Amino acid sequence: MDSLISNAYTQALEVIGSVEPRIADATRQELADQRASLKLIASENYASPAVLLTMGTWFSDKYAEGTVGHRFYAGCQNVDTVEALAAEHARELFGAPYAYVQPHSGIDANLVAFWSILANRVESPYLQKMQSKNVSELSEADWETLRHEFGNQRLLGMSLDAGGHLTHGFRPNISGKMFHQQQYGTDPETGLLDYDAVAAKAREFKPLVLVAGYSAYPRRVDFAKMREIADEVGAVLMVDMAHFAGLVAGKVFTGDEDPVPHAHITTTTTHKSLRGPRGGMVLAQEEFAADVDRGCPMVLGGPLSHVMAAKAVAFAEARTSSFQAYAQMVADNAKSLAEGFLSRDATLVTGGTDNHIVLLDVTSFGLTGRQAESALLDAGIVTNRNSVPADPNGAWYTSGVRLGTPALTTRGFGHDEFDKVAELIVEVLSNTERGTTKAGEPSKASYALGDGVADRVKAQSAELLDKHPLYPGLVLG
Ligand SMILES: *Cc1c(COP(=O)(O)O)cnc(C)c1O
Repeated sequence: MDSLISNAYTQALEVIGSVEPRIADATRQELADQRASLKLIASENYASPAVLLTMGTWFSDKYAEGTVGHRFYAGCQNVDTVEALAAEHARELFGAPYAYVQPHSGIDANLVAFWSILANRVESPYLQKMQSKNVSELSEADWETLRHEFGNQRLLGMSLDAGGHLTHGFRPNISGKMFHQQQYGTDPETGLLDYDAVAAKAREFKPLVLVAGYSAYPRRVDFAKMREIADEVGAVLMVDMAHFAGLVAGKVFTGDEDPVPHAHITTTTTHKSLRGPRGGMVLAQEEFAADVDRGCPMVLGGPLSHVMAAKAVAFAEARTSSFQAYAQMVADNAKSLAEGFLSRDATLVTGGTDNHIVLLDVTSFGLTGRQAESALLDAGIVTNRNSVPADPNGAWYTSGVRLGTPALTTRGFGHDEFDKVAELIVEVLSNTERGTTKAGEPSKASYALGDGVADRVKAQSAELLDKHPLYPGLVLG
């Protein structure tokens, strides 16, 4: 298999290079760079060669607006096979009554979910007509009323600085403009979700949509409790599991921690911990299936058939026991990373982790998130800066660094390697000095890394990376 994969990519790059050599070069360089860096970005992973190869085919050329067996273009029989199989795998993998695999990204999946909730739940005498063939019977005044009804709904989601996503009602995103929005945060003392506070807010605000899920919260969520809150106030529970879908697929999150049986609608990306192609997906209870099915033409155009094919391949991988072992390792490794920090006196938001994310508060090093992110990158450690709850440095400079274990776990890192990663990060940050501005104030951006630190750390990471190569059998000729 290794030589097949090596040949496939070597030859593909030759073909690409014969047209635009600089793209072939950049593609080779990207592999070299990914191989040579400690990737701790919590939303990234390394998809398998089978998943990656599936994306590079003629399915990319096909238009297939519509749904399986109901297309607006001729010649979609093979796309039908692909989409039906991807959806079937998804339903089985997640135990969902219905799966919609067309969304191109996580944000698209959320837009599909928002519109299906509106279409399903906004009570309007015009709505039936709007969905039906009698749409021409709606007058301009009816449309005005509809716009008003649609645009006046309420959404309650987790705030960005507590770990929510910008599509959960953050003002700069369409979700924060289209809906009347309010946000729930985390307990200021513990950093943990306070379900009583969420419930109190929901009772007062009475949202149509309660959004659960996160991008930077290092803990598990009790989705049964979130559903209880939603039911009490008559809200639809939408869970965005974009970050942790791999832990759901891998059966690390089960029972109350598995969102799919509890949520009315669950959205996700497919490229983060799930380790598939870059894309999105919506899972829904039967009640919402017909509305979600109208994702195209509501907010989507033609599906990316080559990516749906790759989703089917990735879901087939995720059904295996080796994926389940991987998902468990992702969570175990996050614990090892957290313990590595705590044993070296670093500060973690919530004091630890029980998912795949560790949120390091870098203020104890006298740094902003921006300075920490840059210093770490100088030493070959790729992370992203992230707000901490009630961040004193705001959303741009921030006070935290978000770290995730899915990518390096794919390379085969285990407990000892993640303990070493914590050691290296602490070494970089404790040897980074905060710079000063021209006016002599402490700078939030400039910094100075101690002499020789970057090289020393890079040499030690190289040892870890060499021990666990990325795509081990893949040799480009
Ligand atoms: C990453 C993420 C998204 C967006 O996914 P894209 O594919 O980048 O559009 C949405 N929601 C959450 C919670 C995420 O973490």
